[in-house]
Amino acid sequence: MPVYRDSGYIMNDAEEMANAFKLEGKNLRDPENYIYSRYRNPTVVAAEEEIMKVEGCKWALLMQSGMAAVDVAVSLFQNGRDTGPWLFFTEIYGGTLTYIDTVLAARRGIRIEKFGATEQKYDLERLESIIKDLKPDFFYFEIISNPMLIVADGEEIIRLCKKHGVKTIVDNTFATPWLSKPLDYGADLVIHSATKYFSGHGNLTAGVVCGNDDLLLSESVAYRKSVGHMISADDAYRLHTQIQTFGLRFSRQCDNALQLAEYLSGSKLVEKVWYPGLKNHPTHETAVRLFNNKGFGAMVTFTFAGTDHEKKIKRDSFIGSVSEKIKLVPTLGDPHTILMPVEPVWGDRYPDPGMLRISVGFEPGEELLHTFKEAIDSL
Ligand code: PLP
Repeated sequence: MPVYRDSGYIMNDAEEMANAFKLEGKNLRDPENYIYSRYRNPTVVAAEEEIMKVEGCKWALLMQSGMAAVDVAVSLFQNGRDTGPWLFFTEIYGGTLTYIDTVLAARRGIRIEKFGATEQKYDLERLESIIKDLKPDFFYFEIISNPMLIVADGEEIIRLCKKHGVKTIVDNTFATPWLSKPLDYGADLVIHSATKYFSGHGNLTAGVVCGNDDLLLSESVAYRKSVGHMISADDAYRLHTQIQTFGLRFSRQCDNALQLAEYLSGSKLVEKVWYPGLKNHPTHETAVRLFNNKGFGAMVTFTFAGTDHEKKIKRDSFIGSVSEKIKLVPTLGDPHTILMPVEPVWGDRYPDPGMLRISVGFEPGEELLHTFKEAIDSL
């Protein structure tokens, strides 16, 4: 796949240029009509086609980051003074929560409402009554939340939103299409931080908005062009290559995660493990029903046993013991397993000083388990 780094494309004469602008945005897969790379770029189109295969959707548009994808998706529903309220699940990515507060509410003046979990799961009756009361333009949620890994019954949530004429935007980053394809149940838009499992190598930043609706496609194209959220050709090139191994990588990551979660939940030094593949997770049944035996995701959260002081000591000793092989990196979806201490990042929201979030990699499972066992035994 060539990397088209050029920003502009040669036109033979004035008439060709006039036609190019007339047709611009009309046919996204047009093999000829390239004008300017912020509008459309052949390498980007090729990567988008790979994503369409994986997500099983009619269109996919790449952005320069997951946050740009969030911005595009929600902004399509901003409609002058008639906008809002917009309803968001509370347990979504922290950067999205900051965007909601600092951009949508504070700068754009949009009325934002939030819906929270009850005992770490969705109460769908409560969600329906809130939807009936508020009549939001859309409900925004993630199929697997962060860091408690609450699994949303996407099919049921989308059904009840549709019943009340409410659109749905689903961030599918953690579940990935390997486990869930919300567009198949009628979601209006699905977004991903492609920085994570689609890229899978921790070497680029990208986002994607996916859909099946033609009007949302043309509006997304126009918005991406106007605000300049287009991904670079180099990043699109890497994504185009790396997404071809997505299924191989992610299925291995899910296997490794389940094995690790089972091991940790059997250790006396561990107080609790949150993993949707474990029977004691509040949304285990939903995950079993929704994910068709394909896995339970590649994120595991756990906390050490003891007083707050003991928990913190165990957490820090554990981080020290594994540090040769497992690094603290504030992202997820990398090839190697990486860790994030929860309390220093989430603060008051998750104040437990023993809690660690693991992004499980696709290294050989036995090696990974050995590294964990050695570190836990040394505590
Ligand atoms: N959505 C989820 C679930 C995320 O975890 C992240 C980043 O961690 C984002 C969106 C934002 O993506 P990016 O960092 O690529 O902008």
